[in-house]
Amino acid sequence: MTAYEIIQKKQRGEELSREELSFMLEGMLRETVPDYQIAALLMAIYFQGMTPVETYSLTDLMLHSGEVIELNHLDAPRADKHSTGGVGDKVTLILAPLLAAGGVAVPMISGRGLGHTGGTLDKLEAIRGFSTSHTPEQFRRQVEEIGLCITSQSDRLVPADRRLYALRDVTATVDSVPLITGSIMSKKLAEGIDTLLLDVKVGSGAIFRTQPEALALTHNLLSIGQQAGINCAALLTQMEQPLGFTIGNWNEVAESARALQGDWPQDLREVTLAQAAVIFQQTGLEPDLAAGIARAQRLIEDGSALAKFAELVAVQGGDAETLQDPDTHWQPAFCQELKATQSGVIERLDAREFGLAAVALGAGRRQLTDQLDNSAGITLRIKAGDTVQAGEVIATFYADREPSPQVAARLQAAVTISDTAAALPVIQLLVTSDSELDWRAALQS
Ligand code: URA
Repeated sequence: MTAYEIIQKKQRGEELSREELSFMLEGMLRETVPDYQIAALLMAIYFQGMTPVETYSLTDLMLHSGEVIELNHLDAPRADKHSTGGVGDKVTLILAPLLAAGGVAVPMISGRGLGHTGGTLDKLEAIRGFSTSHTPEQFRRQVEEIGLCITSQSDRLVPADRRLYALRDVTATVDSVPLITGSIMSKKLAEGIDTLLLDVKVGSGAIFRTQPEALALTHNLLSIGQQAGINCAALLTQMEQPLGFTIGNWNEVAESARALQGDWPQDLREVTLAQAAVIFQQTGLEPDLAAGIARAQRLIEDGSALAKFAELVAVQGGDAETLQDPDTHWQPAFCQELKATQSGVIERLDAREFGLAAVALGAGRRQLTDQLDNSAGITLRIKAGDTVQAGEVIATFYADREPSPQVAARLQAAVTISDTAAALPVIQLLVTSDSELDWRAALQS
């Protein structure tokens, strides 16, 4: 068997055996199969897809490319959530400490920015000193001690995802159902959790723009979760416009710190509380979603979620003091305002275009070796549905270096102003392996 033959077989649309997939993944990790052949295989999978059997084998091989954490001895339920990726999606920074403060053990292996979407690890590493690197022993110990750890893939934790993820980010092979499924589920199953909530984004800034595509991904993810024997559910949430008011690494840390102090925009609040409520219900800590929302609100109001975040930052080597007044620690050299070209109602803030502009400013990578500019970002002054006057500031964008004029043009084109705007629900469906419930109906049941 050769890498060339395996790539050709997938290129023809044939099913790869577990042995063939293993040959490629092991070869990638031992560096006997070079990145360009792995990239070619990714592109063939992107176009030809994978059968359920192939997707399961890929996930399982990725999971066992490293160690699987064992946390059965903990008294607390062990849960995590994972977003399929969005723009301005900083929910993990708020939700993970909130859950840990609420009695859930949260062992979390997260990701970096992928394509136009941001990544939790990149955001956390914008906090001075914050480390996302742990041995499996350190990871387990931190969860035992403070109920929460956020780490990255490593040589010993899902190394196959670490390599594939970085290659997909720069080879336009992100939006593939089997590749996303393998990537997310291998990380989550390596964590030793018994409960998982998937936040599947839908809309322009999501990996998939339409509900049927997002549902196909959801059922693939849930099916792997079910085969692995974990309690798995998903929320479909809207990603037509950026979540909250900020995009960028430090910028999103700052908005998360304010959210943990109870100062947060409506959409960010709604998505975070909904996710917390589903997990509190899944783990049996609360009997229903309404009680779960109330518990999450209390954890914000009494300051315990914020205190857990500060503890996490300190334990992972970060400077927790910078979070007390985050804006004073953010002094980008370049700053420009984006103004409304006419009066009217904001009909659309195209999340994908905002995400791509953030990458162009330096908040994301265009090549494997790119260094991030943590000060790069965009702050919105308005959201879809708001009324603006011609000349009013819609957003401000920042970076350490003056960006190309195309960034301003891209942002300007991402904003549509008209006479009316339809309100889109932030949370659409609550999905399990055997049900799809409208979120409002789920809340009442
Ligand atoms: N999150 C991941 O971890 N992997 C993907 O492929 C997409 C989102």
